[in-house]
Amino acid sequence: MKKILILFLFVLSCSKDSESQTSETLSNIKDDPVAETLDYNNDPIYSKVKPILLSSYWDAFVLSAALYDVDLSYLEDVKFVPQDLGGSTAGIANGSCLDNVLILVDETIFRNLSTGEQLFLMYHELGHDVFNASHDGGGLMAPNVRSLDYDLFQTEVKDFFTGADFIQWTDEECEYIRELVKDGN
Ligand SMILES: [Zn+2]
Repeated sequence: MKKILILFLFVLSCSKDSESQTSETLSNIKDDPVAETLDYNNDPIYSKVKPILLSSYWDAFVLSAALYDVDLSYLEDVKFVPQDLGGSTAGIANGSCLDNVLILVDETIFRNLSTGEQLFLMYHELGHDVFNASHDGGGLMAPNVRSLDYDLFQTEVKDFFTGADFIQWTDEECEYIRELVKDGN
């Protein structure tokens, strides 16, 4: 009888062990980011942006750039200014072809955009402002706000920062843009 009890206890503890091992393995899989399908809501960079905090888009842009070894930490004069842009424009890159970064945002329009559209708009305007990128490169810099599927947006961001889709404004275009910015102020 004693022998059976010991055997029973042994079996019990054994099965307990293997059970806790299984649950540990399962929780490991759950915590593994690779096993998770990423989207705008759980992406480590995009999930931190907040439409009410416009500067959070700068933080995201800097982190996205860093993924492709583009260092933007040297830029200190970065501002997002809420402004009425006339009813149909959500954002303007007002620091294009200048050393500073100044993005004007019509918050009434901006807040009604989807998360994908908000990210696209901000990355697009920052592309103009920080890199003097023109619309000719297409992709992220193609004109008009678009709502992009998460994976496609990731591809466009990559193609932008790696230079695959990137055409800078010419000096003449920049001169023209600087005049426009001056007149606008
Ligand atoms: Zn544009």
